[in-house]
Amino acid sequence: MKRFTLAALLLASATPALAQRAAPIAAPAGVDQRVAALRDAALKDDVAYDIVEGMTTEVGQRLAGTEAEARARTWSAAKLKALGFKNVRIETYQMPVWVRGEERGEVVAPVPQKLHLTALGNSGATSANGLEAEVVIFPTYADLAAAPDGSLTGKIAYVGNTMMKTQDGSSYGQAGVARFAGPALAAKKGAAAIVIRSIGTDTHRLPHTGTTYFRDGPAIPAAALSVPDAKLIEALAKRGKPIRMKLVLTPRQVGEQESGNVIAEVPGTDPNAGIVLIGGHLDSWDLATGAIDDASGVAITAAAAKRILDSGKRPRRTIRVVWFGAEEVGGFGGHDYAAKHGKERHALAAESDFGADKIWRLGMTLPDSAKPVGDRLAAALAPLGIVRGSGSGGSGADIGPTVALGVAGVDLNQSGLDYFDVHHTPDDTLDRVDPENLRQNVAAWTTMLAIVADAPEEIGPVERPAR
Ligand SMILES: [Zn+2]
Repeated sequence: MKRFTLAALLLASATPALAQRAAPIAAPAGVDQRVAALRDAALKDDVAYDIVEGMTTEVGQRLAGTEAEARARTWSAAKLKALGFKNVRIETYQMPVWVRGEERGEVVAPVPQKLHLTALGNSGATSANGLEAEVVIFPTYADLAAAPDGSLTGKIAYVGNTMMKTQDGSSYGQAGVARFAGPALAAKKGAAAIVIRSIGTDTHRLPHTGTTYFRDGPAIPAAALSVPDAKLIEALAKRGKPIRMKLVLTPRQVGEQESGNVIAEVPGTDPNAGIVLIGGHLDSWDLATGAIDDASGVAITAAAAKRILDSGKRPRRTIRVVWFGAEEVGGFGGHDYAAKHGKERHALAAESDFGADKIWRLGMTLPDSAKPVGDRLAAALAPLGIVRGSGSGGSGADIGPTVALGVAGVDLNQSGLDYFDVHHTPDDTLDRVDPENLRQNVAAWTTMLAIVADAPEEIGPVERPAR
């Protein structure tokens, strides 16, 4: 019986006009039949969805450094062992932990209105009775930066800095500075508290949390308003009357606590060929079950590694799957991994931490000796609708500290168009995960692993820009 690869099926379904013009091609040049078969079989994967469903249902939210994240580690080690992975272990470390308290807000004047908001990670606290003050409006982060020192004394700063949708997610960095750095900047200028427009692209009344950093200065109460609530503040401001807001935020720092990484392997046959490091992060924000951020990432990468494990042929390189701890709150797991394993030879690293939408683009940073590996990868991923980008590979907070040591990397970029509708909100739940999109991810990762872990070429160190 003739066997069709996915590529052949896609070509067969092309329009008749195109089919007449194009020469008949069975499969793109250079795609190994074994790789194509692994890729196409992965389009029926159920393991990834099973992991996301199980983790979100049986563990729930997994805030870094809390008992919930510890339960997640126990659950994950058992799951990875049950899936047949070797050398499954948990590596722990200590880290400072922040936990959410009560959080309420309202416009007191000129028009009373309850607000939907949530504290940002590392936010300081108001008194139990709350804080009421006049609001100073800054449409952008740059406007806040231009405010004179001391000009916000006793006030609540509001920062807009609207985020727009982008496929590559680049708007997150641009808009997100209001969250990452806005609170510390407002504190430096004397503000008693800060509220920002959520760093998100939805129009629901669900605020987006996320970490902010005060570094050396004092932590002031810092919260994100849902986008519609932020729009209301901006519309009120246009009316010209002073706005007074009341905030009750009672989060606290609970000191050094234990977090950890969960590690599992598909052992390779050649210990000198270097490790292929893949994974995502196990922790999540506490507002939801973290289905897309990042249960999907750990599930996709582990499901792909399992397909290599079950393929009947040991890969040349060891595939190491790491479910990193405490990414959301500062990338502690990634730093601990690099500190403990950075001296081991890593051939390549790749991370999945951008939700569960379809992968659309391939990015690579490979040494010249491995250029043919990149060409084979691009050809094998094309039938999944993935284009070869011109950018680099190996991005991600968790693999970052290891990659910075000069390790080659691959990015399998998911579409970011809808990711920031849900990111860090109470909406990050299982029903946001489309099983078909998840399968496309597993197929792409399986393809990548099948090619990279078995490549006969040397994959040595690469030059990385200084961080
Ligand atoms: Zn994430």
